[in-house]
Amino acid sequence: MFADRAKIIIKSGKGGDGHVSFRREKYVPNGGPDGGDGGKGGDIIFVVDKGMNTLSDYRHRRKFAAENGEEGGKRNCHGKKGADLILKVPEGTIIRDAESDKVIADMSGDNQRQIVLRGGNGGLGNQHYATSTMQAPKYAKPGQEGIEIEVRLELKVIADVGLVGFPNVGKSTFLARVTNAQPKIANYHFTTLNPNLGVVDMEDGGFVIADIPGLIEGASEGVGLGHEFLRHIERTKVMIHMVDAASVEGRDPIEDILAINRELEAYNPKLLEKPQVIAANKIDAIYEGENEIIENLRKTFEPEGIEVYPISAVSGKGVKELLFAVKALLAECPQDTIVFEQEFFPELCQEDEEPYTVVFDEEDEVYVVEGPSIEKMLGYTNIDSEKGFLFFQKFLKQQGILKELEKLGIEEGDTVRMYGLEFDYYK
Ligand code: GDP
Ligand code: MG
Repeated sequence: MFADRAKIIIKSGKGGDGHVSFRREKYVPNGGPDGGDGGKGGDIIFVVDKGMNTLSDYRHRRKFAAENGEEGGKRNCHGKKGADLILKVPEGTIIRDAESDKVIADMSGDNQRQIVLRGGNGGLGNQHYATSTMQAPKYAKPGQEGIEIEVRLELKVIADVGLVGFPNVGKSTFLARVTNAQPKIANYHFTTLNPNLGVVDMEDGGFVIADIPGLIEGASEGVGLGHEFLRHIERTKVMIHMVDAASVEGRDPIEDILAINRELEAYNPKLLEKPQVIAANKIDAIYEGENEIIENLRKTFEPEGIEVYPISAVSGKGVKELLFAVKALLAECPQDTIVFEQEFFPELCQEDEEPYTVVFDEEDEVYVVEGPSIEKMLGYTNIDSEKGFLFFQKFLKQQGILKELEKLGIEEGDTVRMYGLEFDYYK
């Protein structure tokens, strides 16, 4: 029952380009601009299909793209919209940005359909760009690019139980013993940020348990538990505090539990309302299986309703009792679905460019640059001032206009014209 995963590339459609055309009527030699708008690109939409229960459909194909929008036409004709691409997934699929690992969508609960990537907007046709200074614009807005990202699909396994405790108390050993997970067991302080999940098989239904790493040395000195750690805890229903009752490393187990609980409370006081139990581990290393540490744990925590279970993850002693107690606590918890919040917003990487044209006018032997953003920029920039001129140069570079000029073969000393302004080109 391990997390089913797939990695795919998804791409929304590019918007169709706006069109450049002019009305042609009898007796009207130069009609006004009538270029139509491009169609919007298709969206990538994820939809829950209740009949599916694996992600195996996504293992064979890597790339999924929605259709591009069509270019606008003459006589104000709009380009056709690109078709959306619907991707069906089983309920409980989490879609993450592969690079950052952040959640884009959690297809569970009420969220049965989500537009994950929006198609690019269609570009406006040249009819929209007529102004008093530019009555026959020869540019139209290009269609907005679609978005292409790699995503990880993952069937969500939410751990019912979080296992917390300082390094080396025996969490991994315990997890390996009671579940099918094969965590790293080591006598050194090493943490990865993903929890180790394991399923505890029990008669009449098991549960999922997570060894939640990220608990760094020094947490009790106020270094903090780290957000990842706390986020994982937030999703579990019951917490097992594991301590080393043999105190092999000389820690104070009571202080460790209190330190962890202080951090949980500071992050979100509701976390302390989750039922907790204490697993006092390594009793095989204690003479007669009881000692002062266990006694003190009981005295401190049992009055608060937190039971203490002496166990040995190595020998297995006491483990069954602990698991039954945890299961009983789970049975009392509400069974509502936990839905992850969106953390990554693909549309934020979608740029929208204003159109411009760069042409060489052979008659006048000048390079002509036109476009609405250029016209606007010249309106608010005083090129005669040094600051204004620097800004102007930067603008030309950033917009890619200098590159376009160079492509056309501009040389030092050539003239460039922009809306009544002429200047000579120097590198
Ligand atoms: P974690 O850092 O909490 O995951 O701890 P590990 O599971 O990696 O265990 C740390 C060390 O404690 C290892 O050397 C284990 O063999 C040892 N250990 C774990 N559980 C027990 C136990 O029940 N008894 C004894 N004697 N040693 C244990
Ligand atoms: Mg470990």
